[in-house]
Amino acid sequence: MPKIIKTLKEMREESIALREGGETIVFVPTMGFLHDGHRALLKVGRRLGSTLVMSIFVNPTQFGPKEDLASYPRDLERDLKMADEEGVDIVFTPSALEMYPEGFSTHVEVTGLSDILCGASRPGHFRGVATVVLKLFNIVMPHRALFGRKDFQQLRVIERMVKDLDLQVEIAGIETIREKDGLAMSSRNSYLGKEERRAAQCVPRAMEEARRIVADGEAQSSVVTEKVKKIIENEPLAVVDYIKVCRADNLLDAPVIDECSMLFLAVKIGKARLIDNTRLR
Ligand code: AMP
Repeated sequence: MPKIIKTLKEMREESIALREGGETIVFVPTMGFLHDGHRALLKVGRRLGSTLVMSIFVNPTQFGPKEDLASYPRDLERDLKMADEEGVDIVFTPSALEMYPEGFSTHVEVTGLSDILCGASRPGHFRGVATVVLKLFNIVMPHRALFGRKDFQQLRVIERMVKDLDLQVEIAGIETIREKDGLAMSSRNSYLGKEERRAAQCVPRAMEEARRIVADGEAQSSVVTEKVKKIIENEPLAVVDYIKVCRADNLLDAPVIDECSMLFLAVKIGKARLIDNTRLR
């Protein structure tokens, strides 16, 4: 079983001792309620260093006031079982009170990147993400940290922060793990009722269609996003938040599709907000 550490002090002391002992610390931050997407990160992480640390922390500052912080799914017992199966050495589960004590008032803002796509729909979200990830990096002191490409914008925000603030941690992005029908795995998929889960298939289906028409020669992003929008809107339970083609490096709009272009979408189905992305070529 992994060692469970709950306090910042104990985690920091453990990390200092590990580093002094010559260990390479690999870190996988999560909000728990683990699925096979997290499992893939842990599997890669296990190979990238000698000590694998996973955090489970449902970070309040990345949730908007009307979002699902209180109802976010949690199952620590099941998470610990998966952590054990994947050879995690340490599970770090800090409390919100210790992470954000009274008087907490410093935040990390990655401007530009944080204001588009999901940032436009969720003001303050990436500020919360960047702040908690920097705090976790300072506490866990990893040599390497792994993030999923499902949350591609989050990966770019963190890479930018690491570069801009000269953090001594190597960031790696892991491919999206999907259900059999192509739906990207997500803890929030547990919100979907049976009908909603069926409706959610419109997201991978629309992405597949986008890739198909690009493969057939379409290079205008507007044509592709219109087609995707039609497929999603054809599903009565789905509500489009955004559908965009952007450059993979800086996430700026890409009106013409080339090797660097990716399709990004966010779709609401019932209580779940599904996000996904795909390369187009
Ligand atoms: P979360 O617990 O949702 O905050 O996710 C923790 C980490 O797992 C983040 O780096 C996510 O990008 C990553 N992740 C979540 N879902 C998937 C997935 N389906 N495939 C790959 N990585 C994922």
